Amino acid sequence: MKELICKTENTHQYPIIIEKGIKGRLSQMKALFSQYHKVVIITDKNVAKEYLGEVERQVRQAGPKVYSIVIPPGEASKCLTQTAEIYNELIKCNITRSDAILTLGGGVVGDLGGFCAATYLRGIDLIQVPTSLLAQVDSSVGGKVGIDLDYGKNLVGAFHQPRAVIIDPLFLETLEDHYMIDGMAEVIKYGCISSAPLFVKLMGYAYYEDLVEDMEEIIAKCCQIKRDVVQTDEHEQGLRRILNFGHTIGHVVETYFKFKKYSHGEAVAIGMAQITKKTVAEGISQKDTYDNIIEILENYGLPTELPKMPLDKVQEILFTDKKFENDSLYICALEKIGKAQIVKIQKPQAIELFR
Ligand code: NAD
Ligand code: ZN
Repeated sequence: MKELICKTENTHQYPIIIEKGIKGRLSQMKALFSQYHKVVIITDKNVAKEYLGEVERQVRQAGPKVYSIVIPPGEASKCLTQTAEIYNELIKCNITRSDAILTLGGGVVGDLGGFCAATYLRGIDLIQVPTSLLAQVDSSVGGKVGIDLDYGKNLVGAFHQPRAVIIDPLFLETLEDHYMIDGMAEVIKYGCISSAPLFVKLMGYAYYEDLVEDMEEIIAKCCQIKRDVVQTDEHEQGLRRILNFGHTIGHVVETYFKFKKYSHGEAVAIGMAQITKKTVAEGISQKDTYDNIIEILENYGLPTELPKMPLDKVQEILFTDKKFENDSLYICALEKIGKAQIVKIQKPQAIELFR
């Protein structure tokens, strides 16, 4: 078991607990659950099928009354209509500010359920129980919650820190392989930006079973890196930008192909490879850094080649990116594996990243 404490500015501190099999021991977490009269579990259909019964039973045993809301799986649920439906359910269950929402699922459930927790009655308590690798290493930690609009992803949201994040690597046993690979792109990202030892460890696995065996430790390392960054820069003013390594280019790739051809992890993998290719050419990154990134991404079955996209379209997508500030783009580059820096690029030069 690994327990990390996350302490952000102006908010409470909360534990991030990473433990194999903890989903079967939630009933022992009485100090956490018995503070609530009611807990509403928000989950999606796929996750409900595997785990909802067990989690409901465990939480009920710990004290509170338990209600569940099951949403359709997939990004399309992260929308205003689904949000309104959840608000209505919360009203029907007579949920008050002394109750809590528990999100059981991947990043979609975490972001949507978290957004409901942040806004319903001006905010109620949130407990995150992430079940996908991406949610376990990334979206459940840091307090960002939100939903999509027709105009784009994550356009409405809030910073709402959870009361606890409870991570069971055994949830991953039922996660489909391509979601696992998707999450690995983010795991590799953490190695790149902050931990050469993690990167080397990830390079060394000859067998998938060995990687799975070490998952508790790997997830804990990723959460620790994210926690450290978020604690220093909760609202993304500076350091938090290093978490966007590979994401600026990746976002353009995802958007250009309408979120169909490439998954998020694949797009980020392409982004990490492409930005490093460019920064090697600029003399910011060492050449072997690029070679190592290509090797590790290929080992995990992730793409590295920037697909052909017309530059005028790229420019259009890039310029509507909310990450532009006063005509400057702040982009994460690697000096070497494990050491990131932020590079400021002026708007007209940004297109060069895609040549
Ligand atoms: P997801 O929630 O759609 O989950 C992927 C799929 O796996 C779904 O079909 C889900 O039903 C299924 N699933 C999840 N856990 C499972 C399990 N244990 N067993 C079987 N099936 C399981 O997608 P995701 O990749 O987890 O998250 C993507 C979302 O996360 C995006 O909306 C993205 O914007 C968001 N995100 C948020 C942050 C943040 O900081 N808030 C960071 C990164 C990504
Ligand atoms: Zn990401």
